[in-house]
Amino acid sequence: VNSVFGAAGTSIFEEMSRLSAETGSINLGQGFPEALEPEELIEAAIAALREGPHQYPPMMGIPALRKAVAENTQRFFGQGVDWEQEVLVTSGATEALTDAFFGLLDTGDEAIVIEPVYDAYNLLIRRAGAVPVPVRLEPPHWQLTADKLEAAITPRTKIIVLNTPMNPIGKIFDDNELVALRDVVLKHGLTIVSDEVYEHLVFDGARHRSPFFLPELRDRTVRIGSAGKTFSVTGWKVGYVTAEPHLLRPIARAHQFITFTTPPALQAAIAVGLALPDSYFDGLKAGLAERRDLLVAGLRAAGFAVDPAEATYFAVADRSGFAPEEDDLAFSRRLTLEAGVTPVPISSFYGKRDVTSRIRFCFAKRTETLNEAVRRLAAWR
Ligand code: PMP
Ligand code: GLN
Repeated sequence: VNSVFGAAGTSIFEEMSRLSAETGSINLGQGFPEALEPEELIEAAIAALREGPHQYPPMMGIPALRKAVAENTQRFFGQGVDWEQEVLVTSGATEALTDAFFGLLDTGDEAIVIEPVYDAYNLLIRRAGAVPVPVRLEPPHWQLTADKLEAAITPRTKIIVLNTPMNPIGKIFDDNELVALRDVVLKHGLTIVSDEVYEHLVFDGARHRSPFFLPELRDRTVRIGSAGKTFSVTGWKVGYVTAEPHLLRPIARAHQFITFTTPPALQAAIAVGLALPDSYFDGLKAGLAERRDLLVAGLRAAGFAVDPAEATYFAVADRSGFAPEEDDLAFSRRLTLEAGVTPVPISSFYGKRDVTSRIRFCFAKRTETLNEAVRRLAAWR
């Protein structure tokens, strides 16, 4: 058993989902949507499965999907991307992250990660032989500054991993934060791996920003997306990378020995999805914002202070008013058992597990599911 994954234990998402299933609670822990997938996507997948092909597609991804990724980036973010040179299809964002870490990092390199951090990053970075170095964002402002980044830099620093919009806190890094990041990256000659799986889930007129969209950082940024989030099909595991050729090449090299390809019918369907009219993307945002408001109101009525989520499908609740002596994992378990509603604890997103005041709820659910969760929370209180 190797020391990285061997020591990792079960992921918090799996652990809380299992507890939820065992107890029949409403699972708002693990992030996955309920009944939001667009019909056109399902029809396109069925048609593609009927027609084939069923064999290994091109290693870089089918041209239709690579073109669609480039087109979607142009349409929504105004950025030209060369689909032949700058787009790679992967089996989910997780594979894209794996490819990026394995392709870009060498033994002993350091990778800065920003906490609260998605659990897979640290383990994959370690397994790539490198060392994750945390920069902590703390409630209630979760602010990233150049000073914080500078303090984490050493001669071994090679990459900074960014996640924007950010899981679990629903934050979009703003222009000032991106400028701070830019200055540090340019000063030290670093590369950014930017996990942007929630790029289309932004609310209230907020704008998704990426270092890839800054002219000075375009050639230093690996941008990662996921169809799982954009089309509410997390089980499909279709992701994509956009980066300039000198960065994409080593990542594609890793990809060819990790999964090599991604199911062609799913690629074809996601190409159709990315080309859906603006109304689909607007509807997704509006529908999620409505669900957010419903859950946030219910959480507030139940006594939680809730931080505003400007993006992603997560609401972070401050549970300081409830049993502060209990940690957030114990509280999450108790809420599951007593209220019948399951969150995930935010401490799981910190190496030291010491930020225990907050829990995360996923609001990408049917309205009826959210109404029932709110009813249960009110009854529990
Ligand atoms: N990055 C982040 C920040 C995520 O929240 C998730 C999904 N939970 C992923 C990556 C993984 O995406 P995929 O399912 O496409 O591998
Ligand atoms: N990304 C999802 C979340 O944050 C979970 C994915 C997983 O279960 N690994 O909840």
